[in-house]
Amino acid sequence: MSPTLLHNYIGGSASASAGASTAPVYNPSTGEVIALTPLSPADDVDTAVRAATEAFAKWKETPVYNRAAILFQYKALLEQNFAELSRLITRENGKTLAEAQGDLRRGIDVVDFACGIAHLIKGESVGQIASTIDGVSTYEPLGVCAGITPFNFPAMVPMWMYPVAIACGNTFVLKPSEKVPLTALRLTELFTEAGLPAGVLNIVNGGREVVESLCTHPGISAVSFVGSSHVAERVYQLGCNTGKRVQAAGGAKNVMLVMPDAEPDSTVRAIMGAAFGCSGQRCMAGSIVMGIGEAGQGVANRLRDAADALKVHPTDTAPDSEMGPVIDGSARDRLFAAIQSGADEGARIVRDGRESIPSQGFFVGPTILDEVTPGMNLARTELFGPVLSIARPDSLAAAIDWVNSSYYGNGAVIFTRSGAAAREFSRKVQCGMIGVNVGVPASMSVFPFSGWNRSFFGDLHVQGLEGIRFYTRQKVVFSRWDDAYVRTMGW
Ligand code: NAD
Repeated sequence: MSPTLLHNYIGGSASASAGASTAPVYNPSTGEVIALTPLSPADDVDTAVRAATEAFAKWKETPVYNRAAILFQYKALLEQNFAELSRLITRENGKTLAEAQGDLRRGIDVVDFACGIAHLIKGESVGQIASTIDGVSTYEPLGVCAGITPFNFPAMVPMWMYPVAIACGNTFVLKPSEKVPLTALRLTELFTEAGLPAGVLNIVNGGREVVESLCTHPGISAVSFVGSSHVAERVYQLGCNTGKRVQAAGGAKNVMLVMPDAEPDSTVRAIMGAAFGCSGQRCMAGSIVMGIGEAGQGVANRLRDAADALKVHPTDTAPDSEMGPVIDGSARDRLFAAIQSGADEGARIVRDGRESIPSQGFFVGPTILDEVTPGMNLARTELFGPVLSIARPDSLAAAIDWVNSSYYGNGAVIFTRSGAAAREFSRKVQCGMIGVNVGVPASMSVFPFSGWNRSFFGDLHVQGLEGIRFYTRQKVVFSRWDDAYVRTMGW
């Protein structure tokens, strides 16, 4: 059967792209092409922005409780369709069903948060701020906002953006990753089913041309981006140059520090989840284990045994699969090359994920390289796959210095029973999300997803109150309604 050519979603219904070229959507477990994403031209962006601009005029005037009512209905529909959506995520992304359910659940958490918009968007007031004058501030929507998202969380990352923007009274144009467009299309159809007016949420599928057009289109007020750091920086520059608000989250290289007093079983379980969950394709994936003192060898041995026991199977047909494939053949080839160049640089391969993997699909088995040092490429580059490095800095202070020399600043984790070590680490490490005996300290809906350094370009992060502030601007009104003034005016 030939793969389906997908469409855009503009003005409340499917809309054929004007583009002639396409990108393949794979089932990464088998390597089969299951759909074709249209690589839309700038004209399609313009059509979507026009639809969103027209819808904005009415949507911004829709009372806040009516907007919230549609979000409540949307949440109910997402719950009703939870199983179907999770299977779709697994099919186009390759993550296990449990991971797909987690992806969707974290997205629904944001819808849940956005349902409280009446409270979240409340402004401030000061009565009698000057004689007979009251001051009131309100948060107003910006207009048409755009979202550009990566392949690794087909539900959660788009849902970091559009439910909040729309709850605030904006309209939205989403460009999902061309590698995983199916989930976003279904999520958008369900929002329409929940009662969202036509044109409030639109999708333009595609690649670079769509991104550049969204970042420069005069009808767009704000751009939210999540993806790799080099594209994040480019999106930030392009959007800022045309006067837009931009929040652009980038890549990461997250360290997991193990102190000699760490509890071994729970620490190894947490590291396995952080390093190999979602096949290492998470911006909060644990990428380097730093074992201090005698912790190093013990953890390395236990991790090798746990990695040997991990069930790496196709995720769409083997329900017991504990780790799925990576997204496509080029990701697999890049990871195979990184393992080889790590060994060439002097790291010792403890477990080689190029061996004993399913013959079909895009698999890389759990890989562990030991004796990694700060100068190696393995220690500096985001690999974005199931390849874990182990390093042995000789003290907590040396480990903190290593973390703080990173280009990135998403997450860092410490495993310890010492409150003093945990406190020193949490205070000194230059990252936005810290875990203490938690493997993946990814912020959830009520907190900002708080990357630092080159893991984030902008000011206000996605999620939490920062998300509300990003998608609104303040208006301040000062009023005088005293009798003397009214008499002067002759009313
Ligand atoms: P990516 O940067 O390749 O793609 C992200 C988006 O940008 C996609 O929609 C893609 O179509 C578009 N794009 C790609 N190249 C482009 C270019 N040259 N010009 C304009 N647009 C372009 O990222 P990815 O491979 O889809 O996702 C993995 C990356 O995302 C990793 O670096 C990961 O750390 C990061 N990520 C970060 C976070 C976070 O919150 N910081 C969350 C998830 C993923």
